[in-house]
Amino acid sequence: MNKDYKNELINNCKKFASKNTLCLYLAVVYIFIAILTINVYSHFKYYIFRFAAFAMAVLCFINLTSFSPMKYGDLDYKMVLEDEYIPIEQELPEDEYIRTSVTEDADRASLDDILSERDSGNTVSSSVDNALTFSKNDWKLVLINKQHSIPENYVFSLGTIKGSMQCDERIIPELTEMFAAAQKDGINLVVCSPYRDISRQEYLFDRKVKTYINNGYSYMDAYKMASTAVTVPGTSEHQIGISLDIICDNYYSLDEDFEKTDAGIWLKKNSYKYGFILRYPKDKENITGIMYEPWHYRYVGKDAAKIIWENNYTLEEFIETL
Ligand code: ZN
Repeated sequence: MNKDYKNELINNCKKFASKNTLCLYLAVVYIFIAILTINVYSHFKYYIFRFAAFAMAVLCFINLTSFSPMKYGDLDYKMVLEDEYIPIEQELPEDEYIRTSVTEDADRASLDDILSERDSGNTVSSSVDNALTFSKNDWKLVLINKQHSIPENYVFSLGTIKGSMQCDERIIPELTEMFAAAQKDGINLVVCSPYRDISRQEYLFDRKVKTYINNGYSYMDAYKMASTAVTVPGTSEHQIGISLDIICDNYYSLDEDFEKTDAGIWLKKNSYKYGFILRYPKDKENITGIMYEPWHYRYVGKDAAKIIWENNYTLEEFIETL
């Protein structure tokens, strides 16, 4: 809990620091307006003009002090055409809500949890496909992104990871295998966000849109920006339980720095051996449409994962080759 709080605090400080330079410019503008107002005010003979000047000054002040990033230029924001990547602030990624809840035991699942769940009778046979011919229609390769929502006829069954945490039951054997291998290397991986139903995804998306609207963006802009940080409901891999957010037992924040942890490094290097890929890599945002998420791993099967890893592909690029 303390670590969580500390990270939250650091993020807030970073956020403030980035806006601080803007505050400096604002202060100069305010002083300028104040001097101007006093000058104009003292020049008017009649109260009505004095009142009007005063009202104008108050209006200017209110307008400027809304601290809207739209007014003062969010340095990272730019208007874009459809499908173009919009780099935005990183402090509220898709899975941001986990930060506050991940320390709850029920929201995490370690290897022991997964194994005990498997022992309790939920065993599913592994479905490793050894044939090196791939089909776009294979459930393991289903492409879900902004342009491709979840197919209407897509079927899957949920298996339990731990408690209420679920994912596609077909990926659990390899997930367990991966966690065991990591543990051998001294890394305790933790699943923190597996399957999510549509209502949860809608809630996360709506909340993100509202955040931008509250910051002064129009609905259209807020929607566009939100969609790079949170997948639009109906286009999230979490909704079919094929992707998982994986962190470790000593780093709970879903932020870019996870890549520097032993677990982040291990996952990036080894996950393909168990059929998982880093779904939203760095510098590939223009292809995936989603900002870098070092914790979001997608199951594609071992064969495809190996090719994707060796060629540094995204799933989009791999599908193109089929
Ligand atoms: Zn995720």
